[in-house]
Amino acid sequence: MARLSSEVAIEGLKKLLIDSEKDDQLDKEVEAKIEKLISELQGTRPHDCDPVRRIIDGFHRFKTCKFDKYPELYRELAKGQSPKFLVFACSDSRVSPSHVLDFQPGEAFMARNIANLVPAFNQLRYSGVGAIIEYAVGTLEEFPVANYKRVSQVENILVIGHSRCGGIERLMSLPEDGSTANDFIDDWVKIALPAKAKVKAEYGHLPPCKQNQKCEKEAVNLSLINIQTYPYVRERVEKKTLALRGGYYDFVNGCFQLWEVKSSTTPPIDI
Ligand SMILES: [Zn+2]
Repeated sequence: MARLSSEVAIEGLKKLLIDSEKDDQLDKEVEAKIEKLISELQGTRPHDCDPVRRIIDGFHRFKTCKFDKYPELYRELAKGQSPKFLVFACSDSRVSPSHVLDFQPGEAFMARNIANLVPAFNQLRYSGVGAIIEYAVGTLEEFPVANYKRVSQVENILVIGHSRCGGIERLMSLPEDGSTANDFIDDWVKIALPAKAKVKAEYGHLPPCKQNQKCEKEAVNLSLINIQTYPYVRERVEKKTLALRGGYYDFVNGCFQLWEVKSSTTPPIDI
């Protein structure tokens, strides 16, 4: 009954939005409130909702509330992209940078993986990450794509760690004998073994959950060091045309820390 009621309410609110688009009846503030209400109602839906329905509803909502509402933005984005940020974030479903930092289409080039790790430059491994960095930071001016504007080089790289990261938890609990229990995850999180070693040496006396928290941030710092092994990154950092920053999203307390890499990392500011 509750599910039916929320679905009816959502449909009614969507109709109101669509009608208001046609007649230009509602002011922006009221529209924003209706959009928020729809989001909240959708958030109350049970997780076993029909996945096809969920996808259709999601696209309809995007098309109505974004794509059709801001045609100039999407017309410009169809010609090319000039994102200012390259963002590394965890694949965790709770930490999407578009959601947490409100990045809009065209603002941020995204790389998401387990534990938001950046491996050191290595053409024989992890080519997925290398290709993203090369594409966003590298020498694209020499390789324009026919009929499309090239992507501009990003000016900022942000690596975001987060609270209760399953990837970091796995890293911290890897068996000492080097054995692995899965096909890919253990090998991947081992990228951050130097961060684990540092945390164990400095904070080995803390309870495991506190050590994990320390490592969630230390792994970000390690990634910010690793990313400087890519020649195009190093070159642009030296020219001061590319800034490197670390971030940490705590979804337990709803806060975000941000710090900058200079010759050393700056103390974090709490947001
Ligand atoms: Zn994670």
